[in-house]
Amino acid sequence: MQLPHLRVGILGATGAVGQKFVELLSTHPWFEITALAASERSAGRLYGDAVNWIGSTAIPDEIAGQEVVAARPDLNCDFVFSGLAATVAGDVEWKFAEAGYPVISNARNFRMHDDVPLLIPEINPDHSSLIERQSWQRGGFIVTNPNCSTIGLVCALRPLVDAFGVRDVQVTTMQALSGSGYPGVPSLDVLGNVVPFIRGEEEKMATEPLKLLGTLDDGRISPADITISAQCNRVPVLDGHLECVSVRFDQTVGPEAVRKAFLGFRSPIASYGLPSEPEALFCVYDDERFPQPRRHLEHHGGMAVAIGRIRSCEVLDVKFIVLVHNTVRGAAGGAVLNAELLVKQGYLAARSEHASSGVLAVI
Ligand code: NAP
Repeated sequence: MQLPHLRVGILGATGAVGQKFVELLSTHPWFEITALAASERSAGRLYGDAVNWIGSTAIPDEIAGQEVVAARPDLNCDFVFSGLAATVAGDVEWKFAEAGYPVISNARNFRMHDDVPLLIPEINPDHSSLIERQSWQRGGFIVTNPNCSTIGLVCALRPLVDAFGVRDVQVTTMQALSGSGYPGVPSLDVLGNVVPFIRGEEEKMATEPLKLLGTLDDGRISPADITISAQCNRVPVLDGHLECVSVRFDQTVGPEAVRKAFLGFRSPIASYGLPSEPEALFCVYDDERFPQPRRHLEHHGGMAVAIGRIRSCEVLDVKFIVLVHNTVRGAAGGAVLNAELLVKQGYLAARSEHASSGVLAVI
């Protein structure tokens, strides 16, 4: 069978998320990087010179020598991934969609827009059909993935919502430094310290899950009826957001049933053969010291969600720990999986394949 082949541009290619895109896409079997875009500060320079590379592996040679261009909608590619700073993403992503580019975004700007899918392929793959409500011409559209802490929480809630019904959630996060981009939080603020505030984060964690776990009916999403209280903290960890979650269910449920729900989870897209989908969404630990960011982040290339310490909660019903790789599953890897799903569903194709009709190719 012939593999799909699509040319991709990366907007914000020099940032923390953009670098993760470069890492993941440089060996991707379906997608080839043909454009690297960033701000005017970086445009015109070779990628290897413009970037403050923070990855643990070297910049791929063929990428280091590519010229960075300005983020204008004249890129040589079939679609773009966006790792743009949220201060500019709204305007730039809009222009790309308007010019006919599909935009697969990490930024917060369009996540809660009624017509824009907020997508996690294993959780709500049907929500991609919101694309059909977008009225851009020549195949342009915008699809988003959630905030990097939201994604871990929502993955964990999906099997619990399906099996038992979830009423209330209390979550406290310990979020890694890479979650605030490069150069991020000043070292004097965070070394040997915890900062108990991340602007906008608690609001995102309280609202995005309701859209993600909502039901799609007649082209509209009815949000899930769950109350979420979030407290978000920045801690001196490089990668990996750890979340302490307590849940109240619609019925009497104990820790063993919750453990079985995680282990029994079956991905609705398992048969699609998407290259970035992990073999199992959850790694469930019985050792009470686990999961830990330094030790348990890289399972299935950082795309799995680690769960541990499942036990009774004295206030709600059951509590547990979630660990998610914020720049992989919570950002670039999540976006790449979204793009793979959209290829499979027929929403993404080489531009020449839908340019002739002037409309988006759909299933
Ligand atoms: P970052 O390290 O600050 O990178 C920002 C990128 O945006 C850089 O490539 C920068 O290019 C580019 N940029 C800034 N101003 C621009 C402009 N006027 N025109 C074009 N490009 C411009 O941020 P990040 O952590 O990678 O985050 C990127 C996005 O992903 C944000 O919206 C963030 O909220 C979201 N996100 C991040 C994470 C995470 O774990 N870090 C997780 C989920 C979502 P220059 O280098 O040229 O300035």
